[in-house]
Amino acid sequence: MKNYYQILGVSEDASDDEIKRAYRRLAKKYHPDKNPGDKSAEEQFKLVNEAYGVLSDKNKRQQYDRMRRGDFSGFGGFDFGKGRAAQDINLGDIFSSFDIGDIFGDLFGFRKKRARSAGVRGSDIQTTLEISFKQAFLGSNIPIVLPIYEQCHRCNGTGAEPGSTTKTCPVCGGTGVITVSQGFFGVQRTCPNCGGRGKIPDKRCSICGGTGVVQVKRKIMVKIPPGTKNGQILRLRGLGAPGTGGAPPGNLLVNIIVKPDKTFHIEGDNLVAVVKVPFTKAIVGAKLKLRHPNGKTISIKIPQGTKPGTRLRVPGMGVQRKNRRGDLIVEVQYKIPEKLTPEQEEILKKFNVQ
Ligand SMILES: [Zn+2]
Ligand SMILES: [Zn+2]
Repeated sequence: MKNYYQILGVSEDASDDEIKRAYRRLAKKYHPDKNPGDKSAEEQFKLVNEAYGVLSDKNKRQQYDRMRRGDFSGFGGFDFGKGRAAQDINLGDIFSSFDIGDIFGDLFGFRKKRARSAGVRGSDIQTTLEISFKQAFLGSNIPIVLPIYEQCHRCNGTGAEPGSTTKTCPVCGGTGVITVSQGFFGVQRTCPNCGGRGKIPDKRCSICGGTGVVQVKRKIMVKIPPGTKNGQILRLRGLGAPGTGGAPPGNLLVNIIVKPDKTFHIEGDNLVAVVKVPFTKAIVGAKLKLRHPNGKTISIKIPQGTKPGTRLRVPGMGVQRKNRRGDLIVEVQYKIPEKLTPEQEEILKKFNVQ
């Protein structure tokens, strides 16, 4: 078993600060940029990164200490994953692949994949979807076709042409991460050269060109909940870009644009209809027929003397939420003629408001 304490040159009871200082000093010393073409420096750099990855993480360090005390002898005899050459396996991988619960509970089930410490969650993808008012009010399932990045099937995401050999990435020294200085601290980032894989192929995959991902068109059902408003953003978990190094994918964010309706709009749980009624009808009272977005025709009684702006309530005809339902609100506005015939004018002049 590798002695990570020795690699970093610290004692076994070194503090987090001591470990960090030692790491910074050694990472600088062995960085491939400073030692171009120096194989042993590259190896050392890789080891230092690996050691720091374990010792800087409280949980991993505890597990490592236990293993050093012999709690898990024979650990190295297992097959740690399909298709991985034995020399590819290092303790850093073991530690990032499962936690202590897995080791106890699932001693032989080591194929379980976990996010590697080098992995980065996939980014969110944004898209815009225009829907009708009816679809927004009632809720609906709308299929959309999106260009999505998936793991390349030819190379299984390695970026290497099948059969070609790989070499250790010279930028990260095989660790898959680079340390970027940010003020006083060094921050670990996924290596841009190898995408966090730590290896680069001699011959790049003919399908994906070495990126390990391909763009495919995927049909996705977007579930529009009833009462969705214009400008609302729906989050579809896990349908964003794939993560690297086993990290989870991002989300798909769907920006909803609701085409405005001439009559209806939504206010909270309520469906509001603004209807223009000839002023004479509003004054004397009338019955009005309204076509509800659900397809039914609703008859609404406008009482005599209804003033403009009056809101009439029809209970239970609004937005259907999970455990409640809003109302339909009919707002009455007056339709006033711009021109009157001489006859109409005469009649209105005769009419006296007290
Ligand atoms: Zn490929
Ligand atoms: Zn790299």
